[in-house]
Amino acid sequence: MLSLEQAVRAALGPGGSLARAVHRFQARPGQLEMALAVCRSLEQGGALVVEASTGVGKTFSYLVPALIGGERVLLSTATKTLQDQLHGRDLPRLIEALRLPVSTALLKGRSSYLCIHRMQQALQGGAGLGPKAVRLLARLERWAQTTASGDLAEVQDLDERSSLLPLVTSTRENCLGSTCPSFKSCHVHHARREALAADVVVINHHLFFADLVIRESGMAELLPSVRTVIFDEAHQLNETGTQFLGTELATGALLDFVRDLLAAGLQLARGLVDWQAVAAEFEYAARELRLVLGKRTVSGRLMWSGLVPEGLDAEPWQAALARLGRACEATIIALDTVSELAPDFLRLIARARAFRDRVELFTGEGRKDRVRWVELGQQARLVESPLDIAQNMRDHWFAADQAHRTWIFTSATLGDDEALSWFTGACGLEGAAVLRVGSPFDFPRQAALYIPPELPLPEDPGHAGQVARLAGDWAGRLGGRTLLLTTSLRALREIGDRLQERFAGGVLDVLVQGQLTRRELIDRFRRGSQDGRGCLLVGSASFWEGVDVPGDALQLVVIDKLPFPPPQDPLVQARSQALQAQGRNPFRDYFLPEAVVALKQGAGRLIRSESDRGALVVCDTRLQNKSYGARLFKALPPMTRLQSEADWLAWLDGLTRTDTTGAC
Ligand code: SF4
Repeated sequence: MLSLEQAVRAALGPGGSLARAVHRFQARPGQLEMALAVCRSLEQGGALVVEASTGVGKTFSYLVPALIGGERVLLSTATKTLQDQLHGRDLPRLIEALRLPVSTALLKGRSSYLCIHRMQQALQGGAGLGPKAVRLLARLERWAQTTASGDLAEVQDLDERSSLLPLVTSTRENCLGSTCPSFKSCHVHHARREALAADVVVINHHLFFADLVIRESGMAELLPSVRTVIFDEAHQLNETGTQFLGTELATGALLDFVRDLLAAGLQLARGLVDWQAVAAEFEYAARELRLVLGKRTVSGRLMWSGLVPEGLDAEPWQAALARLGRACEATIIALDTVSELAPDFLRLIARARAFRDRVELFTGEGRKDRVRWVELGQQARLVESPLDIAQNMRDHWFAADQAHRTWIFTSATLGDDEALSWFTGACGLEGAAVLRVGSPFDFPRQAALYIPPELPLPEDPGHAGQVARLAGDWAGRLGGRTLLLTTSLRALREIGDRLQERFAGGVLDVLVQGQLTRRELIDRFRRGSQDGRGCLLVGSASFWEGVDVPGDALQLVVIDKLPFPPPQDPLVQARSQALQAQGRNPFRDYFLPEAVVALKQGAGRLIRSESDRGALVVCDTRLQNKSYGARLFKALPPMTRLQSEADWLAWLDGLTRTDTTGAC
């Protein structure tokens, strides 16, 4: 019988089982190197952190040993789309190629599944829904008759921003659990039962951390029987975890509660309590809390270091919180009087109590090891968060587990030093084994890097306009095929507006984040404009990663400026102050590594296969002129560096001649 390592070599090596069974599979030394490191970890237990650059084929590197190893596996990735890809494409392909008797399950958070009970409630009390929501509700009702999984990802062209979705999905607070009349056919519970029985369960980081905090999705039962836990796209773990390990009080959640309170009261206990009055007082208190924060139209984070958020008077703030606390108490008392009539009321009481506790928390001073802020948009979110997940991971997960469980963490970007300390420090993984695997792509031949020398500094008010002008010129010359990444929403708006104005009805189709869903934008960009025009996609934040467009549809990536974290952000400030308190240099140890990882992610959109060619333009002369630029350069793939405008334009024109698809 083959050892695990021999079996993995036989699968991934030249002429191996995957080369024979998987279309276009190529044996790659880096892929095998990573797979063998995973083998050792599976045999020895403990944590392994692997940075595997673009093109390594890291998914097979961890899946092949994990599947052949035969232990139960919990596999977490960053988004629901990546979950679907792993579960719907990669896993079945491998299981078939390796001929293994392995069962798999996909487990998402509650909000991804249709809640049959709430859909029926919405159908009964549909008044107040707009015509669009009514049409969607009818579509969902038809789909509900046929779906086996209840996963809303099955619904074609579903607008994830639809106001109907909270009405037809459940939360931990409003789910009736085993007392629900639809419990037997419940999709959420069915998915959890399947996960508990499967050999490989695919989850996402949000679910992992949500369960860490509230222990409700069944992972607390699942994890003890799992020997291998794998985190792909692990660079997102710290930010995701920090969100979930914090506490928040959101005015949107308060208003959702009012709606559920009124619906349940009027349907199940009409006339027994003056529900309109109870709900009105609660709603008034929730709206008052938002109003007292002022009419800020620009969304952003408001610092909150003392008792009161920055710029607010203490008295109205405290009064608004006190009023909300009283509204919670009054609601709990009203619900108590009818709690025996239906399980819905018990859930509502639990929700009102949780709100009351959070109001109490936010009325007092924040904890020393945490940071507070208010997130402002149409709604307000009061947040208290840890600075990172390190302590939590050490305490809850790694300490007791190291001896018998294997933890694999992988991503294309986890830092820029040999120890990958950007990642390991934030996640409490200082003792983990670390491996870095380079890309198999021939970057000097396939890609070029250009920094336009004449641009003003990024803080100059004319910078965004210049970026828009130049990017428009280059994209026009290339016939589209351009992804322009901005570091702020303000730059996104300005650059997007200028480009759309310039090319209105012209040679380019300018796609801007926010004007269509992310999936629609990327699909349209990948296909090319239907009327034959080239595509220029302008995106911020989420477009820096996860955009995978191999081939000629994407040949130019333009970055507006170096992606340093915003220094005025409360979480960024708190992290920076914590480093200072330890005698460390926040710029060197935090701002630069963050920029390195984000820049690598953005640059990683360009070359996605051995045959791709393209160019990266960074519109920030600091990369060239500042001493720290050397560290950023070193972190980028070794592309050909173009110094003069003439060389740059010649490279660009060379790209237009390589068009083989005519896609864009
Ligand atoms: S058990 Fe919960 S999630 Fe399932 S149908 Fe009932 S309320 Fe919805």
